[in-house]
Amino acid sequence: MNPERTPLLAANWKQNQVWGDCERFVGSLRKSCPEYFDSTAETQIEIAIFPPFPYIGLLGGLLNEADIYVGAQDVSRFGGGAYTGEVSSKMLADIGCDYVIVGHSERRHVMGESPEATAAKLRFVLEAELIPVLCVGEPLAEREAGKAREYTLAQLDAAKAVLKDYPEESVVVAYEPVWAIGTGRNAEPKDAQEMAQAVRGWMKKALGADAASRNLVLYGGSATPDNITKYLELGEIDGALVGGASLKADSFGAMVKACSSLIPPD
Ligand code: PEP
Repeated sequence: MNPERTPLLAANWKQNQVWGDCERFVGSLRKSCPEYFDSTAETQIEIAIFPPFPYIGLLGGLLNEADIYVGAQDVSRFGGGAYTGEVSSKMLADIGCDYVIVGHSERRHVMGESPEATAAKLRFVLEAELIPVLCVGEPLAEREAGKAREYTLAQLDAAKAVLKDYPEESVVVAYEPVWAIGTGRNAEPKDAQEMAQAVRGWMKKALGADAASRNLVLYGGSATPDNITKYLELGEIDGALVGGASLKADSFGAMVKACSSLIPPD
């Protein structure tokens, strides 16, 4: 963690949680992390929750007074019009979204999203003044072939032209090795740190020193309350995109507490 950047814990609920689960989650989080529900209290870590589409507006309403952001897990690669089933970035902005995940590995590798589609989504998210959480990271074969860095930076290269058009806007890059997502096999913290350094080095070269020092780089891949601080302690990783361990307020709240404990009091 770098004192210049506020760490972010992002809860990616994927296609999980119906409305009752969302309400229970918020009720439990209110108990374990009351400071996020008290406008007079200070919080050290930013929290963002990414529920399934139908619950974004409802959850945003429930968290209206809380110091917690909401985001979408995906967005249309079209601006609007005759694209049945799609949801545009304008609509997401309209219902109070703050963040949008773009290019998650499940979109890229399960749904077959192309780099061009990811770049188009990124552009619409930035145009709507939402903060993209751009996911990059290598499959196992590339890691084993020693090509993790090359593969991941090529994914960033595919987004470069769009990012260069929005030099002042924030972007969060989540380094998520595909083989670590949802497998219980988290990356070695020193390997994740090395990749986060490579991502920040890429940002510096492609977008300039200011963008590189202000934008967050997250780790994602089987992060839990037991391992999360090992990543943040190393310095380059500014938080995590969390899937499985974010579904229950107990474990997500424990991650918030663990990360907050790393920040020295003023
Ligand atoms: C994710 O969905 O981006 C993710 C990292 O999931 P998990 O924490 O379950 O590996």
